[in-house]
Amino acid sequence: MQVVTATDKSGDQERLFGPSGFLELGGNVLVVDFGKVFLEDTVVGFLYEDGLLKNGNSPDTEDSQWRLIDDLEGCIFRGTDSRGVELVIPNSEYGGPTGKLRYNGCTYNVLNGRIATEDHQLVGEFEDTGKVVVRDHHTKVARRELDESATLNLYFDGVRSDGSAWRYEWARPLVRKDKSYGENEIIRYFQEFDKLSMTQKKYVVDSLNIWATSGILQVVRKSEGNAALGNVKHGAAGVTRVRSGMVDLDVEEFDRDIDLFKRFGSLAVVSTRVQPYVEVRINLVVSHEFGHQLQFCLSQALQNRVDELYIARLKRSVKMCPVPNTYEGGSEICRPEYVPNRMFVSGYAKASKFEYWAESVAAFSVPESRKLLKELDPAIHKILMEVVQHPETAFTPVLTEPILDLQASLRLGGELKEDLLTC
Ligand SMILES: [Zn+2]
Repeated sequence: MQVVTATDKSGDQERLFGPSGFLELGGNVLVVDFGKVFLEDTVVGFLYEDGLLKNGNSPDTEDSQWRLIDDLEGCIFRGTDSRGVELVIPNSEYGGPTGKLRYNGCTYNVLNGRIATEDHQLVGEFEDTGKVVVRDHHTKVARRELDESATLNLYFDGVRSDGSAWRYEWARPLVRKDKSYGENEIIRYFQEFDKLSMTQKKYVVDSLNIWATSGILQVVRKSEGNAALGNVKHGAAGVTRVRSGMVDLDVEEFDRDIDLFKRFGSLAVVSTRVQPYVEVRINLVVSHEFGHQLQFCLSQALQNRVDELYIARLKRSVKMCPVPNTYEGGSEICRPEYVPNRMFVSGYAKASKFEYWAESVAAFSVPESRKLLKELDPAIHKILMEVVQHPETAFTPVLTEPILDLQASLRLGGELKEDLLTC
């Protein structure tokens, strides 16, 4: 067995990715500090989070010296892992499978049911039944048991806890194996996706990418429904559409937004009937409609915060950016030179608190307008960051655990990356 001494990325010399706590061994209780096992003041061994234990005062790799904690009678560690999450090893009396696990394409070692990275960081547990349990370092939860909806495609090759050879494969329902989790979710969300043109497909994927990859699209789809193209006009300016359930996109609106998106990007300044006033529009109708669905999944507290932001912006807009008497719409329109100082990211965001939210979600959905939203309306940008990165502060209680489970799974599968919103 190849044993690698891992150091953390902060540059600390030889700081192991090891746990901290207490090790019961041969009637003694030894202190463990970041993997170093102490007897009084002397380092007498090393312990990794995946249960590999070595006697001696050096972590050097002499393979024969490393043993599994499970194989030492009466030996048990209790404490936390290197990232501060509660840890007990061995984690069960009967152990678990040992072998290689491929999870959404990411490869891990499994040692007696403990899923670990190449550098011995413990990331979860794998059971003889095929069930995956994730260690969630994001919300510091030691065990998130994944149900079928949160488990990603996996393949295991090794032995069960009883030593019998075991190959096991599990695939998510309806998945296309040549596509990522995110793409598969977008295909499930957008009805008859296959009938779209290449341009339309790319637009839909770009519009929904961050929501799909973060698991939010899956949870919202299950709660609210999916989206379909139809011939249902509902772009009537100034009309508040409070609704839930499925999204019906008007095919003309859809194609017009795609055309504008291709020509101008996510935001466009368009002329109005009242010269020389212009209106800023966001060319992201799919993200906008998804935003309405998303709102129904958010906690009342978060919605109240959004309402307050809207009311404050509306007051300032009425004062600082008054519309001419001849204008009858509900959008914010302004003279061209005032565009950089406008109160709302788009004119239509002024129409109601619901449209303010949906337009903010739309702007947040692609990098170009997300950057602009951050500059123009940092408070709503911050709320949207929370929705994606800290759903525990944003969603209704009934959806919080499912999305946290799913996000932990997506991190394990390399799907939800730390830089999702930085680019
Ligand atoms: Zn709307």
